[in-house]
Amino acid sequence: MNNRYEMYETLGISREVYEYGEAVAESLKERFAGIDATAEYNQLKILKGMQSRQVSEACLLGTTGYGYNDLGRDTLEQVYASVFHTEDALVRPQITCGTHALALALMSNLRPGDELLSPVGKPYDTLEEVIGIRPSKGSLAEYGVTYAQVDLLPDGGFDYDNIRRAINERTRLVTIQRSKGYQTRPTLSVAGIGELIAFVKGIKPDVICMVDNCYGEFVETMEPSDVGADMVVGSLIKNPGGGLAPIGGYIAGRRECVENAAYRLTSPGLGKEVGASLGVLKDFYQGFFLAPTVTAGALKGSIFAANIYEGLGYPVVPDGRESRHDIIQAVTFNNPEGVVAFCQGIQAAAPVDSHVTPQPWDMPGYDSQVIMAAGAFVSGSSIELSADGPIKPPYAVYFQGGLTWQHAKFGILRSLQSLVDNGLLRAENVAKAREKLKKSLS
Ligand SMILES: *Cc1c(COP(=O)(O)O)cnc(C)c1O
Repeated sequence: MNNRYEMYETLGISREVYEYGEAVAESLKERFAGIDATAEYNQLKILKGMQSRQVSEACLLGTTGYGYNDLGRDTLEQVYASVFHTEDALVRPQITCGTHALALALMSNLRPGDELLSPVGKPYDTLEEVIGIRPSKGSLAEYGVTYAQVDLLPDGGFDYDNIRRAINERTRLVTIQRSKGYQTRPTLSVAGIGELIAFVKGIKPDVICMVDNCYGEFVETMEPSDVGADMVVGSLIKNPGGGLAPIGGYIAGRRECVENAAYRLTSPGLGKEVGASLGVLKDFYQGFFLAPTVTAGALKGSIFAANIYEGLGYPVVPDGRESRHDIIQAVTFNNPEGVVAFCQGIQAAAPVDSHVTPQPWDMPGYDSQVIMAAGAFVSGSSIELSADGPIKPPYAVYFQGGLTWQHAKFGILRSLQSLVDNGLLRAENVAKAREKLKKSLS
């Protein structure tokens, strides 16, 4: 045990930062035990899904060409359906990312003249172009699908009166984003999503309720499909890919909804029958198997980050104590230097490309410069340790991921060290924060 600090020291962590980290981790023990219990439940849920569908060695092989009779692909889709308690699922490497999965679910289940409603405020940035909130080629708006939105109330609750008013005879699909994404609204709990769906279906029973499940999978023991969602949709380079899936997305839900999506992904008449899995199936299965523990590690990392930075006086969302429904953590620095130093620290902690120094740049689609830290095995994977921050007030960074808790912890300590090394935080203040925490615990 006593050479653990020496190991941290060789990786650039000072005594003050290490000891503060130890004190914060100690204070979170009980909470982490709860996260482990959730992971244990979800691990069994996945194992049960795999055993009940008789996953065999042959399922790990792939097909090429048309991919007819792809046993591994078809079985994996049944495993997803079993885990999410849905009638069917579409899990494919041909679904290129989360946005694509969501676009597919929307475009295949809406028809010209229908209306799409978001009762939880503005959706994730990339969906603005899918819907046509920002004019875009091929958007739903171009196909005559209209869009309505009801914002959350100032306290984060649902605005039931306005939701009731917004539902009309053309409302065909309701989209509910579970994670706050990069906004400051609270993330929705599965129970909260269940209440919202019950309310919507009470007004219009045949409306399709879709949940954007990105970043939320396996954070709780229930999924939105357990509380009435007709479709749950997400990315395999986030939670359910377990860090191993190199690409992909999923849609799990009612048979008709999934079928519509399959006909749109491939072609009318072909649907789920085609789509070779190539060589990805072993990683899809193994990643799904690891997803509960990988998600637990990332979740511990985000709670640890909240407590580390909150203890030093930085505003954090969610705060150190509140319950969690996704793995994203925001920390506000109020100055650009803090954002840059934080991201450079995260990059320095990466297993890949730790020797490069990220800088703010003019990224297409953003109205300010953005800095991104990612040294991942799978390019762009945000279940791996990653952070990004727009260089504009309030100068907040968004942090997520970490394939193991140990790595997430190191990454956060490394980010803190970077602030100290760049003269943005005094080492004695870190020591003081530790003293204060120790006192409050005794
Ligand atoms: C990441 C994310 C998406 C989009 O996923 P991409 O894989 O980046 O296209 C959509 N919604 C939410 C809430 C997300 O977190």
